[in-house]
Amino acid sequence: MKILLVGSGGREHALAWALSASPLCDTLYCAPGNAGIAQLAECVPVAAEDIEGVVRFATDNAIDFVVVGPEAPLVAGLVDALDAAGIKSFGPRRAAAALEGSKGFMKDFCARHNIPTAAYGRFTNIEQAKDFVHQQGAPIVVKADGLAAGKGVVVAMTEWEAMDAIDMMMADKAFGSAGAELVIEEFMQGEEASFFALADGETAIPFGNAQDHKRVGDGDTGPNTGGMGAYSPAPIVDKAMAARIMAEIILPTVAGMKAEGYPFTGVLYAGLMITETGPRLIEYNVRFGDPECQVLMMRLKSDILPALLATADRQLGHFDLRWHDEPAMCVVMASNGYPGSYKKGTEIRGLEALPDANDLVVFHAGTARDEAYRLVATGGRVLGVTALGKDLAVAQKNAYDAIARIDWPEGFYRRDIGWRALAALKNSN
Ligand code: AMP
Repeated sequence: MKILLVGSGGREHALAWALSASPLCDTLYCAPGNAGIAQLAECVPVAAEDIEGVVRFATDNAIDFVVVGPEAPLVAGLVDALDAAGIKSFGPRRAAAALEGSKGFMKDFCARHNIPTAAYGRFTNIEQAKDFVHQQGAPIVVKADGLAAGKGVVVAMTEWEAMDAIDMMMADKAFGSAGAELVIEEFMQGEEASFFALADGETAIPFGNAQDHKRVGDGDTGPNTGGMGAYSPAPIVDKAMAARIMAEIILPTVAGMKAEGYPFTGVLYAGLMITETGPRLIEYNVRFGDPECQVLMMRLKSDILPALLATADRQLGHFDLRWHDEPAMCVVMASNGYPGSYKKGTEIRGLEALPDANDLVVFHAGTARDEAYRLVATGGRVLGVTALGKDLAVAQKNAYDAIARIDWPEGFYRRDIGWRALAALKNSN
């Protein structure tokens, strides 16, 4: 098959790594890709958000299957455009991608289908939003309705902070039109976990779980980022919890979306709060997480391509996936200054000396080759050093041992990825 992968981050490098290993994959293209993906696929200069360009490339090159990595082209209707051109793809159509594209849509949908999530209100008026915060009190969570690159959420510990967030999003338009409407919701207490399921419009199967680290600094301090590391599985999601998540959240969502006329196909990524009363939905994403995808791909034993094709073909019914028992950990290396401003074009050395192994892979995010073919950093998050281990402590050691051999003075990484799970495992022993 000729496959086109859309995107350019660490998530897409992990997908490229898994797809290129499939015996069904003859040719792999990536639009636009990065320096790591270029070792596995032919990178083509078409931006992920360029819907016309992606459809044109897929048509001109007789692509059999398109796998879409990031949310922006999904929310903008890439799958609808590919369908119209008769090209099979993995990912939800625009109407179903609204589960991520509009928090208000997601909350109303959950309310209609009794899916456990935080109580909320939707607001387009500043005064009404502030009155609601007054009535509810703090802590309270203020969210921009639309896509804001993971930054449109303020967990306000005081009413004053919540008022500030409302002003920032609505009056100062910090997220442009994404903040024209707000969702203000109840603060939920518990431990967070990410749960993944493949959904074919009719049914869904679990596709692993993980926990990530959003804050930039050790001990979960400092500003939020796209994610500084992840591990899988999440100890808190045991078999019984996974079954509850499927029964109470994922399957009612798939059934509800179908009943409402926008069947969901693709990967459903539930951001969950595991509370005292059970799993509750924080948010839905309609694509793989980054860096969660990196750890999921390392743990997946089965060929990924038949699973993605079965999703697109509505054939997930009896699909069985096999996973490595070993946990995986991904530690992200980012450019100094990230998530604020950072220097581009700094050289990264030492990757060639790392072993080429199935249990240690350095996934690239913001990387490129310069004129002299040197590997240089071009983004905030740059590498995702990902390792398997017989237990989480070994996976962690393997990842950090590899990092120690990477020579990139202009980069940094968190030194405590996995701390929460390792502490929990220690206490349970
Ligand atoms: P989101 O982009 O919706 O996942 O929110 C980003 C982060 O804000 C989440 O990962 C949580 O840590 C936190 N958060 C969002 N909503 C809530 C909530 N209702 N209660 C507690 N924390 C929340």
